Amino acid sequence: MDESTGDRDYTKVSFDFEALDACPFCKKNIMIPSGRIQWLGIDFWYVFCAHCGLKFMNPRPTEASYKEFYKTMFWEQKVRNIGFHQIGQMWQTGTYKWDNDKVWDPKQGLENRLEKHREQRVKTIIPVVAGEIFLNKDSRILEVGCGFGVTLSEFHKQYGCKVFGIEPSDEAQKTIRSFGTIEVLARYAEDLKEIGEKGLQFNAIIFSHALENTVDPVSVLQWAKACLVPGGVIYIQTPNLVVFDQMNPYHPYIFSHASLDFLAEKVGMTYKRTSLAKEKMLTIILKKDR
Ligand SMILES: [Zn+2]
Repeated sequence: MDESTGDRDYTKVSFDFEALDACPFCKKNIMIPSGRIQWLGIDFWYVFCAHCGLKFMNPRPTEASYKEFYKTMFWEQKVRNIGFHQIGQMWQTGTYKWDNDKVWDPKQGLENRLEKHREQRVKTIIPVVAGEIFLNKDSRILEVGCGFGVTLSEFHKQYGCKVFGIEPSDEAQKTIRSFGTIEVLARYAEDLKEIGEKGLQFNAIIFSHALENTVDPVSVLQWAKACLVPGGVIYIQTPNLVVFDQMNPYHPYIFSHASLDFLAEKVGMTYKRTSLAKEKMLTIILKKDR
């Protein structure tokens, strides 16, 4: 605690770790060491599954550890520009105009993130979803890990859709509620299980830079599928392992076209990649049969 400001010390982070004996996707156990990073004195190691091509962190923080981190730390660090940052993991590495190495005032940092999300997420996500399903005021859109709610707010503005969010961060939830149009349904991706059991249904569920942050994406997608209407879609955007091997403390997984195709088959959904093989972000649509 900083006595002068009453602000928390956002540089102190700790995780409990667990190690996996087998690949969480295909259950085979040939794992090849595939890189490491270090943050605040903590090691994060990655392995590559020789069978299905999945790259995953192992050992990794437990689900409970991550939940606490996302509730109180992740966005709080991001708006202060003190989260994990490492360049050089991308083919044709570049930096965005929103990024620098200075520590930010949290108010300006929030404005910076909102602008980045408006510029990047809204323009990427909405055309892809609108190309897959008919959007109008009766469409129900859920975003998992919706951050500050910028994309959902635009779905409502442009098409009148009913919009729902899942977001762990206390801080981000304040901004989401300030839009007045987004209903916050839950805190974590794992809460999709209960949302489905209650019978809530959606036309589209969005995971923009969120699925790779969950510890059990197979279950999360199965629960998401149960929350979709027939013909509904799941939108996923994630770093593309081939050209953007984004190892960081938040990513237990780094997906590729191959591993997501494998995942789609596992959960019984139709897979379509909408991005090019060389794009650093891998964008896909999973469709539920009618
Ligand atoms: Zn595997």
